[in-house]
Amino acid sequence: MKLVFATNNLNKLKEVQEMLSNSIEILSLKDIGCFDDVEETETTLEGNAKLKADHIIQKFGYHCFADDTGLEVEILNGKPGVYSARFAGEPANAENNMQKLLSELSDKKNRKAQFRTAVCLNLDGKQFLFEGICKGAILKKKEGEKGFGYDPIFQPEGYHQSFATMNAEEKNKISHRGIAIQKLVAFLKDDK
Ligand code: IMP
Repeated sequence: MKLVFATNNLNKLKEVQEMLSNSIEILSLKDIGCFDDVEETETTLEGNAKLKADHIIQKFGYHCFADDTGLEVEILNGKPGVYSARFAGEPANAENNMQKLLSELSDKKNRKAQFRTAVCLNLDGKQFLFEGICKGAILKKKEGEKGFGYDPIFQPEGYHQSFATMNAEEKNKISHRGIAIQKLVAFLKDDK
């Protein structure tokens, strides 16, 4: 079976393909000739994941899944959430986003936060949603060079180091996206 992952992020694609047996071939957007820029106009992670997955099945007819992730900070009532990529405005810039968050939390004791990923799967005319959450806290300053986005200022619960100090394998085991993808993979293995 061929299944499209609505992304061109090679790291994400590799991660999923490695977790699946060879019975399911993962294709990227580029692989199916999709160069559309689907605007993430919904106000929830689930809504945006569905938007992207629906675009593929409707326009290209492939079974597919899409993901969307946000960083939800407790004292900011779940912000930046679905707007995480552009928290500090356009164009999307990880450094500016981190600085904005650090400054909004500068006088705050409660630094609890979580990353949340929603995955939407369109398969055999049905739709399925999977969720992955990684709880943690926002550090006072950046730590580590690896990863991307908010990794240098996010410390997962039970660890004394930021995501940006972990290698991809370590991070994927406990990360929001890793957990959501593990649920998707378990479902696909059961189903096939
Ligand atoms: P996306 O839905 O995977 O594109 O994620 C949206 C935004 O959330 C990204 O632009 C990053 O700012 C942030 N983000 C998502 N996943 C991670 C992560 O694993 N570490 C740090 N930041 C992340």
